[in-house]
Amino acid sequence: MHMKCDVIQDLIPVYYDGIASEATCQEMRLHLRNCPECRNYYKQYTHSMQLESKEKQHESEPETGALFASLSRRMRRRRIVTMTSQTVITAAMITTAIIFIWKTIASNNRNR
Ligand SMILES: [Zn+2]
Repeated sequence: MHMKCDVIQDLIPVYYDGIASEATCQEMRLHLRNCPECRNYYKQYTHSMQLESKEKQHESEPETGALFASLSRRMRRRRIVTMTSQTVITAAMITTAIIFIWKTIASNNRNR
């Protein structure tokens, strides 16, 4: 059983979306391999769908929002890491300064 070209072309969106049955997919693949006209139609269809999905990606708010959310989450995490390391460095410097001052005072007391 071979499907006619107009049937094939009607089924191309279903085939492209991957919701066609396995039997239909097999018929489609076979027909597209042997029929240049339908192959060309399929190429044009996939091309237009890819363009459309690209435009959708540009417009779609949820995807962009999710991207921004993950990006800002990553940035916030990095900021926390930076803040933590700065705090540790500052604490170490203060400790060193206190020890230095304490030792200076102690040695001054000893010299007296
Ligand atoms: Zn055909």
